[in-house]
Amino acid sequence: CGIIGILGKNQVAPQLVEALKRLEYRGYDSAGVATVDGEGRLDRRRAVGKLVNLSDLLVLDPLEGRAGIGHTRWATHGAATEGNAHPHKHGPVAVVHNGIIENFRELRTYLAANGIAAQTETDTETVALLTGLHMAQGMDPVQAVRATLSRLQGAFALAFLFEGEGDLMIGARKGSPLALGHGDGEMFLGSDAIALAPFTDRITYLEDGDHVVITREGAAIFDANGQQTNRETARIDVGA
Ligand code: GLU
Repeated sequence: CGIIGILGKNQVAPQLVEALKRLEYRGYDSAGVATVDGEGRLDRRRAVGKLVNLSDLLVLDPLEGRAGIGHTRWATHGAATEGNAHPHKHGPVAVVHNGIIENFRELRTYLAANGIAAQTETDTETVALLTGLHMAQGMDPVQAVRATLSRLQGAFALAFLFEGEGDLMIGARKGSPLALGHGDGEMFLGSDAIALAPFTDRITYLEDGDHVVITREGAAIFDANGQQTNRETARIDVGA
């Protein structure tokens, strides 16, 4: 299972699939990508089984855009179906997740009390629903994600993308690894440096509890207390 995120210069869908191939070694049962296109539209494609099923789907039904997130899923909650595959989407929010949201049942109860019903069997969907709810309540994407993160229990690496925001990506980690990759006018997120190797060798590993607000110009990292912080950036050579 793995995560990739790109704020790029070129069409990202093929790059997302290429990076996901480099994460295949971790195992997975389904995969998906979401992008924000030039008009700000957020859309996704998902497929069960091998990555070739996803890349075939993207040939039949392409996804435009220079901002995107991708995921290989190792199902923990909910069968390996297209509907349960990531990215999960609610309103203006799409999210990919590795790990387990332990308190997803409590979150579902809270969401139901706010008129939002779960559409999938996954723990992950609650992250998209909650963040969408926060935005519907008037929060901006960064505030909405922070409010969501404060409610999550369990282990996660997360990447978020937003409708109408072609130059914004948010990442967060607790108990699952997540790396930030620095390009020239491009920024990347990935489960590890291997996934990011085609794009950059300048890597910052996030620490537990960190979240990161990313644009093409750079990234602001915040620690578990919400304080902006610096993490070391190093050149990581994993071989091509
Ligand atoms: N718990 C999530 C799910 O079952 C994420 C699994 C993963 O790490 O790929 O959808």
